Amino acid sequence: MPGFERISRLLDVVWAVGRTGILAPRAVLEAVEIDGSVVTSATLHNPTDITRLGLMKGDRVTVTKAGDIIPQVIGPVTYMRTGAEEEIVFPTVCPVCGGAVNSGKGRWTCDETANKDGMCGLPAVLLYAAGREQLDIDGLGPTVINNLVEAGAVTDVGDLFHLSLDQLTEATRGSGEAANLLAQINAAKNRPLDQVLCALGIAGTGREISERMANHFRTMEAVVTADAEALTGVDGIGATKAQQIARQLPRVAKVVKKLAAAGVNLIGDAPAGPATGPLAEKIVVVTGTMTGPLVAYDRVAMKQLIKTAGGQAKDDVTKKTSLLVTGERAGSKVAKAAKYGVETITEEAFAVMVADFTSS
Ligand SMILES: [Zn+2]
Repeated sequence: MPGFERISRLLDVVWAVGRTGILAPRAVLEAVEIDGSVVTSATLHNPTDITRLGLMKGDRVTVTKAGDIIPQVIGPVTYMRTGAEEEIVFPTVCPVCGGAVNSGKGRWTCDETANKDGMCGLPAVLLYAAGREQLDIDGLGPTVINNLVEAGAVTDVGDLFHLSLDQLTEATRGSGEAANLLAQINAAKNRPLDQVLCALGIAGTGREISERMANHFRTMEAVVTADAEALTGVDGIGATKAQQIARQLPRVAKVVKKLAAAGVNLIGDAPAGPATGPLAEKIVVVTGTMTGPLVAYDRVAMKQLIKTAGGQAKDDVTKKTSLLVTGERAGSKVAKAAKYGVETITEEAFAVMVADFTSS
């Protein structure tokens, strides 16, 4: 997809620690307008990308952005170099704890966080937990999270549910948002089990595996007391992944204790009966952006709509997919659907199919 491209200047590269301790480089750019928004930073994915692209600090760079996609640096415009560009230095110590950095396999990681339960990735852990498909607390953005972490108010996801109005007032710097944020956090106590589980950020799991684990084990208690063998009973978890997940469960159990004490939902829904509705027994994938009758439905809302209409919502087209719904800027999934002989349907036709289940 060509998207929109502009030339900017790479002012600096800053490093953040990800959830699992991976050091993630981010490009600080001279402000440039792309596709209607002002871009001042872009992802660089990983250090090997910097090497592969041959980027230097001060370079003129081509930047792209399409729709909601995070801006990306495509590469340097080398003929515009002046000779004043500088080499980008990779970190030799963790930018948060100053501890040892392991580099290998193209990844730079904070050893404390990756191997010793360190906390350098905590802001990333909390930001992930607050995400729409996890706890869905939209008032909990990067700034508030950093303030909470710096104040020592939060050491894990469980602590979020034990914050006082005073602590939130301080973290929001008296902006008047604290009461609203506290209400959002309280509302998040009622999220479905799979979302709460996903929020715990267990390495080796994501939205889909969390959902399968929740359906399989039915309670958080059953999840945290599972051993590797029990975990292999979940579709999509093989022996290696089961070991990886099992190793993390003692840490997870401590967080779950805090969730239980705060009254967070830790019980799954009763097993559903046979699905009914126009999408019963159908596995449905959506691609592109809804711009017509379903314009109000983003990716998450579309999944909910599919479930409500009796179907199963999936991210990727496979041989098992029943239906591919195509919106604007539909991507490579269309070709994949053609390859597997999967039926595709326009947004308009799909809207008619599920008309009884849409809110408008
Ligand atoms: Zn560190």
